[in-house]
Amino acid sequence: MPLMTGAQYIESLKKVPIEVYALGERIADRTEHPLIRPHVNAAAETYNLAHDAKFSDLGVATSNLSGQPVNRFTHIHHSAQDLVTKVKMLRLLGQRTGSCFQRCVGFDAMNALYSITFDMDKAKGTQYHGRFRDYLKFVQDNDLMPDGAMTDPKGDRSLAPSQQHDPDQYLHIVERRQDGVVIRGAKIHQSGAVNSHEVIAMPTRALGPDDKDYAIACAVPANAPGMVYIFGRQTNDTRKIEGGFDQGNASYGLVGGEATVVFDNVLVPWERVFLAGEAEYAGPLVERFAAFHRQNYGGCKSGVADVVIGAAAALAEYQGVEKAPHIRDKLTEMMLLSETLHACSLACSSEGKPTPSGAYVVDYMLANITKQNVTRYIYEIYRLAQDIAGGFLATMPSERDLRHPRVGPFVEKYYRGAGEVPAEYRLRLGRLLENMTCSIAPVESMHGAGSPQAQRVMILRQGDLEAKKRLARKLAGLE
Ligand SMILES: Cc1cc2nc3c(=O)[nH]c(=O)nc-3n(C[C@H](O)[C@H](O)[C@H](O)COP(=O)(O)OP(=O)(O)OC[C@H]3O[C@@H](n4cnc5c(N)ncnc54)[C@H](O)[C@@H]3O)c2cc1C
Repeated sequence: MPLMTGAQYIESLKKVPIEVYALGERIADRTEHPLIRPHVNAAAETYNLAHDAKFSDLGVATSNLSGQPVNRFTHIHHSAQDLVTKVKMLRLLGQRTGSCFQRCVGFDAMNALYSITFDMDKAKGTQYHGRFRDYLKFVQDNDLMPDGAMTDPKGDRSLAPSQQHDPDQYLHIVERRQDGVVIRGAKIHQSGAVNSHEVIAMPTRALGPDDKDYAIACAVPANAPGMVYIFGRQTNDTRKIEGGFDQGNASYGLVGGEATVVFDNVLVPWERVFLAGEAEYAGPLVERFAAFHRQNYGGCKSGVADVVIGAAAALAEYQGVEKAPHIRDKLTEMMLLSETLHACSLACSSEGKPTPSGAYVVDYMLANITKQNVTRYIYEIYRLAQDIAGGFLATMPSERDLRHPRVGPFVEKYYRGAGEVPAEYRLRLGRLLENMTCSIAPVESMHGAGSPQAQRVMILRQGDLEAKKRLARKLAGLE
């Protein structure tokens, strides 16, 4: 069933119930619950894109395994152009959803595992790459969405996994059996996990020889026995239960509907195990996944920023200030920052290089620069949007007040914009901006794909300071 539509994707999730909880209650249908549904809709757009004839070059790719058309989110990049196309696709989906559409995490996990398993087999004679290709074919043939599960709870961050007081703070192998491995632990902050078909788990950090049991990468069906999901709370999430435009982005929600995913002694058959004990490959796998994931942020976030810039500009118009020079300058600044992020993502993609497996990777240095810039520029873009919008972002009455027979006319009268602009227009845009800029959304730009310091470590490592010193010494006549 290649190339599912959004509606078929949602139907496919309904057929596979999982054990998921939100607000202290077990959820029967993960696709219909009001807290989850907007995130399902956002992920569904990744499926709809593959059927959008205007953008089929973005949404569809040709599988290197089968030669068949596949959804690009299941494709292994085989050229720098593939990497560039990925960024353009992410921007378009950011524009369409104004949110996180979640499918890139599994996409990046698959791309990282493809080339790292190849390297590992070559160096160590293991059998991981062939297994991974079989798994990839299964994902492509069924157009599945795997969650990319890297981040462990981590307990005491100053201690290695094997030194933790509670050994389950990092996902680990608790038993090796003839039919597979049993794993226990959790992955937190998992975007789209509750609306995925599969979960691909990977280590979250470089590991030493004492941490062999923590060197586990594998795939499990989302409904495997022992998989438990706890849906995270978000700013103003009960507005989703109320309904109406106070939600801000009622169709697609806010960031990726993150969940805590518990692996409570889950059996993983060997054919779905892609790393089991080769601790020295955890670091390279994490770095490769992180590079692909950091590449994304100048794609999706510039798309989301397009919506924020548009909302700020439209509000300025409704409020009669669109021609004021400082407003135009602020909108210009927002576009400068957003396009810089996009340019960084394109640059790390254009500079992509082949790996021994034939698959392409982004330029690590430029990918880390991209994400580091996102941790700052998105905050600045949101700050400028809030400046332009005005204080009503924090104080406006609810939609129910607008509809109320007694106070509604007052809301209509006092929240009107310039000319004949109805109050509802301003309130709707105000709620959208509240949702996108005054909520938890920027935290994703800070910590998603790694906290800022993780990129700075990589930048220093990639920067080759010694070569720079040599350049200076040469011109100074010291060599
Ligand atoms: C909205 C959102 C979506 C996400 N989606 C996913 C997803 O789909 N899949 C996934 O796997 N992950 C996901 N993440 C997780 C993301 O990768 C992590 O948040 C990130 O790696 C930081 O980890 P942390 O949140 O545990 O913070 P911490 O690691 O606790 O970081 C907090 C601070 O402590 C510092 N710090 C941490 N360890 C050390 C140390 N040893 N020494 C010194 N300083 C240290 C950090 O630099 C940072 O300043 C998501 C996160 C967010 C916010």
